[in-house]
Amino acid sequence: ADRADVIDGEAVAAAVRETVSEAVDRLRSEGVTPGLATVLMSDDPASETYVRMKQRDCEDVGIESRHVEIDTDAPQSELFETIDELNADPAIDGILIQRPLTEGVDEPAALRRVDPEKDVDGFHPENVGRLVTGDPRFVPCTPLGIQRLLIEAGVEIPGSDVVVVGRSELVGKPLANLLLGRGDDADATVTVCHSKTDDLAAHVSRADVVVVAAGVPELVTGEMLAPGSTVIDVGINAVGEGDDRELVGDVEYESASKVAGAITPVPGGVGPMTRAMLLRNTVTAAARQSGVDLDL
Ligand code: NDP
Repeated sequence: ADRADVIDGEAVAAAVRETVSEAVDRLRSEGVTPGLATVLMSDDPASETYVRMKQRDCEDVGIESRHVEIDTDAPQSELFETIDELNADPAIDGILIQRPLTEGVDEPAALRRVDPEKDVDGFHPENVGRLVTGDPRFVPCTPLGIQRLLIEAGVEIPGSDVVVVGRSELVGKPLANLLLGRGDDADATVTVCHSKTDDLAAHVSRADVVVVAAGVPELVTGEMLAPGSTVIDVGINAVGEGDDRELVGDVEYESASKVAGAITPVPGGVGPMTRAMLLRNTVTAAARQSGVDLDL
């Protein structure tokens, strides 16, 4: 039987990094060194790993990175003061507050405190509002990466039926808003499903594009899909113990790849795109703040 095309997120991410790297060279030739600050206030080992990865990604493309670690016992005022300092620091173009923050910290207040011009994650309410009102500035990295994957996979987004499974502020909602926007890379008809959706399979089965960001291992199976549809699997779930431990997505890859026309693998699909888009947003921030016209 035919198998779905595999959408190679690593390859597309490499192309994005290449463009970013060239943009960094142009900025540097104008005397601008893009800088990203990462702020960690958590003992979560996964968060520590993510932050380290982001710093390494920066290094690879010539973005300066600065890391600030705040003791989890510290008062939240210390976090807020750090954000204020980074907001005021001309060497810093982008600020990333690694979430989740340690318990007891007012996370929405922390996200609001970041200068919207340096909000490369796109989580500040001003940037969320701009996306929703059709005047986007910084769009969250995972949705941006997914849109790019759809374009690279040759999906005609305008007029397509897109079903997004998941309504998080991080992925589902901003992606729905992005693809609902106007333009050649959007203009989709978007349905957003979540845990209270009555009949998930009924929605998924009529979609041209299915994006699953539910955090539920193998929630979407091949039999739910329309033949030839494009499937984007955002989920990253560790299942099994010890030597059997493996990463699976929110899509049952085996069955889905027998029905779909194209599908992203886990790992190697959306994950690398999220990382690449953070770099892209950071050079965009640097260009905006320095007044250099990059036309990315
Ligand atoms: P959240 O847990 O914040 O949101 C999950 C969403 O899925 C919720 O809206 C929830 O509904 C919905 N949901 C849960 N169960 C079901 C179900 N049975 N049927 C339909 N909808 C359901 O997760 P995130 O959006 O932050 O992340 C989703 C997944 O993507 C996770 O596995 C995460 O690890 C991964 N991820 C991957 C990234 C990448 O770069 N590859 C980046 C970010 C996340 P409700 O709102 O009703 O609770």
